[in-house]
Order: sequence, then C-alpha cells, then structure tokens
Amino acid sequence: MAKITLNKNNFFNNLDIIAKATQSVDKIAVVLKDNAYGHGLVAMATMAKEYGVKKAVVQTEDEAKQIEDFFDYILALNAIPHVPERSGKHPLGVKSDKVRYTINDLHSIVKFPQGTKVELKVDTGMHRNGVAMNQLEEAFAKIKEQGLVLEALFTHHRSADELSSEWFWQKDNFKKVKEEAVGLAGKYDFGALRFHSSNSAALFRNSSFDEDMARVGIAAYGCMQLPDAIKIEGLKPVLSLYANKISSRELNSSERVGYGGTFETDKNCVVSNYDFGYGDGFLRVCSNNYTTPHAKKLVGRISMDNSSFICEDDEILIFDDASKIALSAKTMSYEVLTSLKSSIRREII
Ligand SMILES: *Cc1c(COP(=O)(O)O)cnc(C)c1O
Repeated sequence: MAKITLNKNNFFNNLDIIAKATQSVDKIAVVLKDNAYGHGLVAMATMAKEYGVKKAVVQTEDEAKQIEDFFDYILALNAIPHVPERSGKHPLGVKSDKVRYTINDLHSIVKFPQGTKVELKVDTGMHRNGVAMNQLEEAFAKIKEQGLVLEALFTHHRSADELSSEWFWQKDNFKKVKEEAVGLAGKYDFGALRFHSSNSAALFRNSSFDEDMARVGIAAYGCMQLPDAIKIEGLKPVLSLYANKISSRELNSSERVGYGGTFETDKNCVVSNYDFGYGDGFLRVCSNNYTTPHAKKLVGRISMDNSSFICEDDEILIFDDASKIALSAKTMSYEVLTSLKSSIRREII
C-alpha cells in the first residue's frame, strides 16, 4: 500500500520560522483547507495543537466540524451556516461558537442567521471574493441590519509570491480599508475589529508584521516556491510519499513499457511496478518525465493504480518535496499535494 509520512520535526521547524515572522504563536492561523493541503486534516490539526497553534482556516463546514476540538478559533472561508428547522442547535451542529464565517459579497449577507460571528472579506484587487472597497459602508449597514456579529475584516493578495509592485498596491489598498473600517465600526457599534491579509508569501514579505493574524498554508507544509529574491531559508517539506512494489520483470534492450509503449529500454534492466497511480493523485503529466530523490527513473505512462520505475526495491520513495516533483508536472506544489487522495494511509513520524 502506498503511504504518506508526515514529519513532525519538520512541521515544528516550519512553525518556529513562521512564529518568528508573526512574532507570536497566537497570531498563526494554520490553513487546513483541502484536507490540510493533502497532508490529512486531523493529523495536521493534531500536530498543530501539540505545537500550540490556536487558530485554523478551512473552507467548509464539514472541515470546521472535524477539527472543532483542536482550536479556539476556526475561520471558514466558504460556508454559510446551515440552520436546521426548529432546532435549538448551533447552525453548524458544532458544540461551540468557535467558527467564524466569511462574507464574500454583499448579496450573501442576508443568508447568515442572526447572531452569526462573521468576518468581512474585502476585494483589494484580486477580484475573486470580497466586497468592493467602495461598498464598505453598505456592507457594514447590511451586516448590522441582519444582526450579525462582525469581528474582522480581511483580504487576500493576488501577487504576494511574485516580484512585482502589485503586492505593495494591494497592501496600500488594505491600509485604506482599515482606516475606513475603524470609523465604520464606531458608527455601527461593532467594537474593535481584527484585521488580516497575509498568506505565507505575504507574511514573509512584510518587514515587520503588525496584523492580528496571518493565514499560513504552504509555508507550514514547507513547500513554498518563491523567486530567489524573496525566498525563505530553512523551511522543510513535511510530506513524503512512498509506494510499494506490486511486481518486477527483467527486460531486454528495446522492449517497451506501459500503455502505448511510450518508453523503450536501451539496455537490459529490471522494471518494477508500484502501487501509486493517477487514481491516487500521481499527476499523469509526469509520465516518462520524473526521477525520484533516489535517482529511480519513472518509465512509461502512469496508469490509474500503478507506475513503473527502473528499480528493484520493495518500497520506493516517490517524492519528499512536492515543490520538486511539481516542476516535472509543470504545476505548483499546491496541486501536487491536494491531488493526493485521502484514502492513502498517513503516518506521523
Ligand atoms: C489558501 C488561502 C491561504 C493560504 O495561502 P498559502 O499561500 O498557502 O499560505 C490564505 N488565505 C486565503 C484566503 C486562502 O484561500
């Protein structure tokens, strides 16, 4: 069976580096959406709690429910509380009121039940989610009218991981938003608001971080891919993927391997077939174009449940750094990781 190992020391090492940047563990909100970037939601939540992280960010209600006991604060990026009819239960069915819900546009405000703790996403330039900067007052008025508890405003950068001036432009926009929001919070009687805007790349680009929290995903998993000028030293990948041998064969020179026979041997060799295929999350575009960290060459097309390597070992390390295999797959570490199926066994080491 293929398996994933999660290196706790590496995760804690990354959290040490992140905590230095945020200047406090309490300001780390670890992003656990998409099965914790493919690492395994509960396994990563368990380790984050052990480290002392108190905040988490997820997409959905279901994710929030699964990690409710691990954190004091959970921000759901894309969830509207489901209110069971005539039930006294909390909308989510969760035991506590740890979950904060994101308002992603003006229209959705009426969908949140009275008393829901919400955070308002503001569109400072990415044009994906959030109310426009000139809709702030309208949003505050609607949130008040709906009887929601507004606790924070936040935004997301579209270019924090690129060397361009756009990052500074959005940062400046959010500064204006903060100034206006402070006034509006007074006017609409919301109390002190929290503010956050940093993902991993943005956190490390701030020379001095001064917000209430940072939403850190890929840096915690140790798989950032940044231009050299803004590279962060010392982060270590948490996840490694191993596959097991299903079978082996000795091939002569000029024999072809796999669907379509796309790989041809140039000498006698042993080709073994391992139990990790595209059905498990091995991006098929890597076919014939990947060599493992131990220099084992992937040969032929990746099939649904199998992939073949010039290798005789019973177990093979497929990758221990998603950023590297991402290059073969012509994609980013995020996609490599989130493609890994939740059915693969996870083991904390
Ligand atoms: C996914 C996500 C993050 C985390 O981004 P990383 O680049 O992985 O640190 C932060 N904020 C929002 C809104 C996100 O969707």
